[in-house]
Amino acid sequence: MQFNDLNKQYKAYQSEIDAAIQGVIDSSSFINGQEVQLLEKELANFAGVEHAIACSSGTDALLLSLMALNVQPGDEIICPAFSFIASASMASFYKARPVFVDVSPIDFNIDPAKIEAKITPRTKGIITVSLYGQCADFDPINAIAKKYGLWVIEDGAQSFGAIYNGKRSGSLTDVATTSFFPAKPLGCYGDGGAIFTNNEDMAINLKMLRSHGQEKRYIHKQIGINGRIDTLQAAILRVKLNYFEREIATRQKAAYRYSQLLKGHVLLPEEAEGRRNVWAQFTVMLENRNQVREKLAEKNIPTAVHYPVILPKQEAFRDDVLTDEKYEVAELLAETVLSLPIHGLITNEEIEFVAQTLIEALQENQ
Ligand SMILES: *Cc1c(COP(=O)(O)O)cnc(C)c1O
Repeated sequence: MQFNDLNKQYKAYQSEIDAAIQGVIDSSSFINGQEVQLLEKELANFAGVEHAIACSSGTDALLLSLMALNVQPGDEIICPAFSFIASASMASFYKARPVFVDVSPIDFNIDPAKIEAKITPRTKGIITVSLYGQCADFDPINAIAKKYGLWVIEDGAQSFGAIYNGKRSGSLTDVATTSFFPAKPLGCYGDGGAIFTNNEDMAINLKMLRSHGQEKRYIHKQIGINGRIDTLQAAILRVKLNYFEREIATRQKAAYRYSQLLKGHVLLPEEAEGRRNVWAQFTVMLENRNQVREKLAEKNIPTAVHYPVILPKQEAFRDDVLTDEKYEVAELLAETVLSLPIHGLITNEEIEFVAQTLIEALQENQ
């Protein structure tokens, strides 16, 4: 069994993907080919925003967003304490200071009730992460941002396709990012990412920043990076985007089935009201995680821990974290979370086998 069966997915769309790759090779338009512009239109349409800017990775999407928002050294940026490192690390890389806020036990995302206490005169913005495929609680987050004049970035690397009160991930904030890393809900065959915004000036600026700040060929208005997506990746993504809604539906069915089977055995992830979770991960909470993981591994069931160490405790942030503050929910999650196999082509039999093996492992452990 695979944690995320990319080979099965390739086989399912093989003839179309092969033709798309061959088409790019035949055109020799490896950089900024027409597939990139077409993908950007389709992504914007899918996310319900005016502009999508494809780029080299989810990490570069975050960096470019911070550059476009004119972040300055010493600015403070509110970030969730429990997440993948990229959003907080790009803030730190850009010489801003990530200020960590504990997460909510409901959706595992930044807890809106704990944000205001961390705002200072130096605070410039909030980076939220929509973890495991579910949007953060954007209504209260955006209300706080408005009150204090802050911008909001949604790091939607795990939530492309998710919905919050009728609006899609990517369309909920001033700027939003996603990743097309192969294991993300919509993945390419290497690195790739995108940025979403309704602000036209921001979109023009982001396109410039991703090409060395170049306005016209060899005429540079500002300092930028090489942050483009490959045409090959754009062509592959265009094929996969056609099947994405169907894959989301399969992930949802899988999550509901897991929940039915595992109810009462482990603490289950939930879909908050008004939200569509795209289930990038199906992550349960349990006490004796390591023994259970080993039992599952014996039956060739791969699992993952997203994430074992909270961000304020990462050595990389030693210069950013000033106090020994408590992040109780984040700590609890880091100790107990376990992600089970889930992907867009998983079968009912696979779900049942994982659930049954997990229940047996828990019983043996009692
Ligand atoms: C994967 C991920 C990223 C980084 O994306 P890359 O394309 O690998 O650079 C950023 N944030 C979150 C929450 C992620 O899961």
